[in-house]
Amino acid sequence: MKKIIALITLLIIAAVGSWYIAGSLNHSHSAQPIVHYQSKLVPKQAAFNKNLYSHSDPSSIWVVVNKQNPLNPVTYIPADLVFPTVPLRVPGNETMQLRRVAALAMEQMFAAAAKQSINLMLASGYRSYSYQTELYDGYVATQGKTVADAQSARPGYSEHQTGLAADVEPVSRNCEVEQCFATTPEGIWLANNSYKYGFIIRYPQNGQAITGYEYEPWHIRYIGVAAATEMHQNHVLTLEQFFGYPAAPHYAN
Ligand SMILES: [Zn+2]
Repeated sequence: MKKIIALITLLIIAAVGSWYIAGSLNHSHSAQPIVHYQSKLVPKQAAFNKNLYSHSDPSSIWVVVNKQNPLNPVTYIPADLVFPTVPLRVPGNETMQLRRVAALAMEQMFAAAAKQSINLMLASGYRSYSYQTELYDGYVATQGKTVADAQSARPGYSEHQTGLAADVEPVSRNCEVEQCFATTPEGIWLANNSYKYGFIIRYPQNGQAITGYEYEPWHIRYIGVAAATEMHQNHVLTLEQFFGYPAAPHYAN
């Protein structure tokens, strides 16, 4: 009898022991190979698709508007203009509007900036074809066509007409629409952080031969977080270079 009990006890110990060993082996075998397998087979991150959205449709967030590429039609009016809930230079004015997607991004960006005591204001957003006509004609009348073309877009050629572009300034209005804005805390913050919210500084320093415009550290353009981040990470400064467009220093005529 004693022998039988001893034998059963031995069998139980053996069974439990082998189950335990099998379990631990099973555990280690199932965990490690998967890590190995994944590290081998996770594909390299796919290349950024620069043709995901149209570059010519005026309602596309990737539309390229410059001196060689007017809006088509030139009288385009965005369908979803709204007033962003941010400090506005001229509350209620038509030019304080942006397309909904850009307005939301600006609200988030200005709120994030305010948390760091950077107080930004929208100086100018959407400009209609007729407003741009007035603006441009005013420049031509006072300063001549050459100066006008360097400082203001011709009607139908302004990125502001897309509702995706905005001029930004400090609430203090320090360096309002002047290049010294780049040296203000607000201008520095904007240059360093706007891409996180989908905006780029559209007319960078020394970019006139490509963009057709002098340095405008205050002029931002919404292209979405993915594209703005891609440009930032690859140090691409202009939309023309990013999307493979030829330089547009001048109008065709
Ligand atoms: Zn502007």
